[in-house]
Amino acid sequence: MSEAKNISSVKRESCTGCGACMKSCPRNAIVFEDDEEGFPSPKILAEACVDCGLCRQVCPAITVPEKHGIQKAYAIQLTDPDALKKSTSGGFFTALSREIFARGGVVYGCVWDEKYNAVIRRAENEAETEPMRGSKYVWSWAGDTYPEIKKELESGRTILFTGLSCQVAGLKNYLRKRYDNLYTVGFLCGGSPSPYAFREYLKTITKNVPLDALDLKFRDKDAGGVGVHITYNTSKRRKCQTYISNPYYYAFYTKVTVRRSCFDCPYRYEQRVDDITFGDYWEVEKYHSEFDVSAGVSAVLVNTEKGAELFDALKSQLAFSEAKCREIAAANNLTLGETRKVHTVPGFRDAFFSELRNRGWEKASKKYLRNKRRLLLWIKTKTPKRLWAAVKRLR
Ligand SMILES: Cc1cc2nc3c(=O)[nH]c(=O)nc-3n(C[C@H](O)[C@H](O)[C@H](O)COP(=O)(O)OP(=O)(O)OC[C@H]3O[C@@H](n4cnc5c(N)ncnc54)[C@H](O)[C@@H]3O)c2cc1C
Repeated sequence: MSEAKNISSVKRESCTGCGACMKSCPRNAIVFEDDEEGFPSPKILAEACVDCGLCRQVCPAITVPEKHGIQKAYAIQLTDPDALKKSTSGGFFTALSREIFARGGVVYGCVWDEKYNAVIRRAENEAETEPMRGSKYVWSWAGDTYPEIKKELESGRTILFTGLSCQVAGLKNYLRKRYDNLYTVGFLCGGSPSPYAFREYLKTITKNVPLDALDLKFRDKDAGGVGVHITYNTSKRRKCQTYISNPYYYAFYTKVTVRRSCFDCPYRYEQRVDDITFGDYWEVEKYHSEFDVSAGVSAVLVNTEKGAELFDALKSQLAFSEAKCREIAAANNLTLGETRKVHTVPGFRDAFFSELRNRGWEKASKKYLRNKRRLLLWIKTKTPKRLWAAVKRLR
């Protein structure tokens, strides 16, 4: 088997785990197994591989699909207050899905499965999108949806795929054909954390509450407004912890647990693979006083003609203003310029994962995260509010 032809030559650091290789392989010669950081990754079954090279053609770490420059940027807020409250930021996902259902289409988005794995699933109507609302800050599995989406596209159905931009790239490579009835919508993304780290963390909060009774949410507006927090039920009460006081959130926020490929992600720049990109509009109050910021505002980037057509069609559901990419990117600690910027890998990342594997979440968290969290909390209490925003950007 030649190393040059199949994806065994893709560096582990570059694999996004999208699943396009496995789903494309005509010989079923690729399986997914957890790597040592708990990220599902491809493994080639040498005896079945015929070196056809298709896996390399569809791999978004090797073959980057066509990209588009951002045409317009917006600050938006859904005008339906009930749905807005259930959304992570400005409720753009709800506006998108309502428009797609009005066209008789189908929506793909991320839900928790019964074991609290984040997985991309399909929804036929608004009720089925309820569990898709809310950010799940953990790496999600999209691969199983690719063949299903292809089938539906071929049958003429309108499809909205919402997911990480690397998942959009995997889908586009898998399809290997442009479909007018496919709308792709990705996120502004700071990285997706290890499902293994999440499972290990869950063990620490489900000692007295079984997993099937756990109700965990990131950034639940009912619990803590539009802040950055995690809420879950214990046997006695509902707990709400900030991204500093909660070790799992802190590890995600500081990129200790995000996938290796996220540090040098080719999908987070001004040239986009998705028709529309959306995310949080942090510090929106600096630029747009017209919104009730306490209810959440999304940043939306329209990247293609098709994206512009979809955005125009759903405008009636939104309050919106034109925005500047530079301003959206600034507070988000994201790069929307053209210069490639590699995020710094935390120096203790490997040691953290090694401790996690050998001694579990509580020990790893205590050894590598506790003092840093305490220090950050101390800095936060001593720093004036205005300066704190600048300190946060140093993460
Ligand atoms: C891992 C991750 C990292 C992110 N990083 C940033 C960031 O650095 N900056 C930023 O501005 N925004 C980021 N976002 C996006 C942000 O958290 C919100 O999801 C976004 O603003 C949606 O707002 P909403 O009110 O329209 O969404 P909601 O109505 O809450 O809908 C949530 C949407 O997120 C999707 N989703 C949720 N979890 C996942 C997941 N694990 N994988 C794939 N899709 C998922 C759902 O399918 C749905 O489309 C990130 C999202 C994820 C999942």
